[in-house]
Amino acid sequence: KEKRIATPTMTKAYLNKYGFTFKKSLGQNFIIDVNVLENIIKKAGVTKETGAIEIGPGMGALTEQLAIHADKVVALEIDQRLETILNDTLSDYDNIDVVFQDVLKADMQAIIQEQFKDGQPIKLVANLPYYVTTPIIMKLLMDHLPLDSITVMIQKEVAERMSASPNSKAYGSLSIAVQYYTNAHVALIVPKTVFMPQPNVDSAVLHLSFRDEPPVQVNNEHFFFDMVQASFGQRRKTLRNNFVRYFVDKYDKAEIEQRFITADIDPGRRAESLTMEEFARLANAFE
Ligand code: SAM
Repeated sequence: KEKRIATPTMTKAYLNKYGFTFKKSLGQNFIIDVNVLENIIKKAGVTKETGAIEIGPGMGALTEQLAIHADKVVALEIDQRLETILNDTLSDYDNIDVVFQDVLKADMQAIIQEQFKDGQPIKLVANLPYYVTTPIIMKLLMDHLPLDSITVMIQKEVAERMSASPNSKAYGSLSIAVQYYTNAHVALIVPKTVFMPQPNVDSAVLHLSFRDEPPVQVNNEHFFFDMVQASFGQRRKTLRNNFVRYFVDKYDKAEIEQRFITADIDPGRRAESLTMEEFARLANAFE
């Protein structure tokens, strides 16, 4: 029996068999290349001990590969129309559980507790729906889930922003937010041709491995993230400019200058030149 769902022939056969039509609004671009999937699984470091979580199994292309390489797979899918198809495509595997829920509304903590063994290393691996990439990743980071790593196919541009270093065009508040929780790097660039239908944007696989501890010490995380975002408010302007605007109801200009001195940061610099450590110093001086 042909085992691989992720080929153009098999994907088309299942589409026809069930009369399935893609919903663009749900970011449905299915992978039709087994090599790419095996590469993603390798980059994710999935082994027979791994508990794998997938978001958006679609027709099961990646789910199948995860079932082959991992101990168990739990996949969350929003589109109920895929239930009959997945029952068919994944019928050979007994280590997969598909949950029909919106990942943004799901209680991931409860799902993990119910579905995996105590202490099992859990990795999230997915080809994400591009219309909600950032909200999904931020939710996964901020929910403090017991995950080892996140390995996801996303838009190349977003992958670059999340993994960017200071003094690059892609560096911004998203880089800081993601890198506060994880070590981030682009593991793979993927051509449009491996998808059906082909998306309009280029794709990349982003690998995020969770840190044991935050890389910087901040007194108030919420204020830290908020202030970083304000620092990049007007990218081309100086920190001083952005801070005067942000703290308009709180500090006058002299007070702002004083706090820059406390943090030992030149207010004439631009946000894109600051390291996370420097942002932390600034946040602690201003909070
Ligand atoms: N994993 C499949 C593959 O690689 O061929 C499909 C990937 S496709 C890019 C994204 C999948 O996410 C679709 O199946 C879509 O229905 C599903 N999806 C979209 N929004 C979702 C949400 N909020 N929660 C869970 N799944 C979602």
